[in-house]
Amino acid sequence: MTDAVLRLIGVSQQYGHGATAISALSGVDLEVCEGEVVAIMGPSGSGKSTLLTIAGGLTMPTSGEVVVEGQHLADLGPRGLARLRRRSLGYVFQDFNLIPTLTALENVTLPLELDGRPRRAVREVGLEALASVQIADKQAAYPDDLSGGQQQRVAIARAVVGGRRLILADEPTGALDSATGEAVMRMLRGRAEAGAAVMLVTHEARHAAWADRIVFLRDGRIVDETRSGSADDLLLGAR
Ligand code: ADP
Ligand code: MG
Repeated sequence: MTDAVLRLIGVSQQYGHGATAISALSGVDLEVCEGEVVAIMGPSGSGKSTLLTIAGGLTMPTSGEVVVEGQHLADLGPRGLARLRRRSLGYVFQDFNLIPTLTALENVTLPLELDGRPRRAVREVGLEALASVQIADKQAAYPDDLSGGQQQRVAIARAVVGGRRLILADEPTGALDSATGEAVMRMLRGRAEAGAAVMLVTHEARHAAWADRIVFLRDGRIVDETRSGSADDLLLGAR
């Protein structure tokens, strides 16, 4: 029995072969449960983005298992995986990945439209998602007309639209000023309270402080893990 939305079991990832092979992840075990926010921290190159892409089914690991809502991703097949991504999974890419020919609102509602949901309902939840990151006024703008921070908020809105169960975010506050960054963390926290599991990469201790747990990666391994109370001391000590 577990209420884990995401389970990584012995996940390893190698890039390349032979002498030049890079071991990006080695034997990572990690669970993220309903209601939980987990922050991933670690130096550049420690495997944070790789961990997220594997958790989101964008990359299949070299070995180990990934289970989302009880479904083994390796068993799903391309259609099953695509459906899971449209319905259950929200992903904030480090470089946003917005579609330049779609407006902010269309970018946000795309996964729902692909899933065949009715237009009007889709529009409403899309606007709600934009409003949750204070950017509903830019609904008709195209990505190129938005600042980096605005684009990032649209990317976040797309990831949380329609009550996704698993939200994965790679440095979602990187392009945001500190007040907006805090607002985004509060919103992600709220999604967790509403039943989502949230895993994010961050470099900012004060954003990680919103998490229930902080997992530290180094050279592709989990080297430390703290619960939020103790994390405060640890992070303050590290400053
Ligand atoms: P982080 O997000 O913590 O900076 P990454 O997961 O991006 O770390 O990278 C972990 C390691 O894997 C690094 O050594 C990086 O150079 C390597 N790596 C990441 N993606 C690829 C790839 N597509 N091909 C080859 N090596 C990669
Ligand atoms: Mg990265």
